[in-house]
Amino acid sequence: VLDTPFFLRWLTAAATSVSREAARLTDLDSAIGDADHGTNMQRGFAAVAEALEKEPPGSPGATLILAGRQLISKVGGASGPLYGTLLRRAGKALGDAERITPQQLADALRAGVDAVAQLGGAAPGDKTMLDALLPAVEALGVGTGSFAAAGEAAEKGALATVPMLARKGRASYLGERSVGHQDPGATSSALIIGALAEAAR
Ligand code: ADP
Ligand code: MG
Ligand code: MG
Repeated sequence: VLDTPFFLRWLTAAATSVSREAARLTDLDSAIGDADHGTNMQRGFAAVAEALEKEPPGSPGATLILAGRQLISKVGGASGPLYGTLLRRAGKALGDAERITPQQLADALRAGVDAVAQLGGAAPGDKTMLDALLPAVEALGVGTGSFAAAGEAAEKGALATVPMLARKGRASYLGERSVGHQDPGATSSALIIGALAEAAR
């Protein structure tokens, strides 16, 4: 069963991971975007970690909602509102329950990912964060919901964006020239999902 400290550990681990990989995320974004994804994510998740420390929320749902709000207000790029929507929508789905089952988390994240698809208008295969997030929530919903399996699915999904042609976001302006590069947002999604397994240890 997943309690509020688990969610705090998850987001803190995600912040650490995003910060450690910031240069790589920015490198990926310099190939098919505007070279700011690493700094965007680092700034956003640093604000998340700070806010959670300053006013620790009382439930898993409130934790995700607070984090989502920080990302929306602190990240200027497209990724801020999208990740913010993911976490806020998932937090709303959890309500004010204090203990969450892995299945409830899988369902909440699925609702969050659906909200991202609706907000950004992207479909699977468009070379966006959804290409990592969708297989991850799929894997989470299977059986008892293995965090390691979700992390691997997200990682695989991010790698699978390399041959894709970008149809959404800045990378889509490049048309065919977007092919052959890994999507930065799918890469950061794999880091965030990968942090779930760290929080569970
Ligand atoms: P910006 O493109 O505004 O500079 P970032 O560089 O922080 O923002 O984020 C870029 C990432 O956002 C992309 O790699 C992609 O994964 C994701 N993204 C952009 N537009 C969309 C969209 N419409 N739907 C889903 N994800 C998107
Ligand atoms: Mg960018
Ligand atoms: Mg930008």
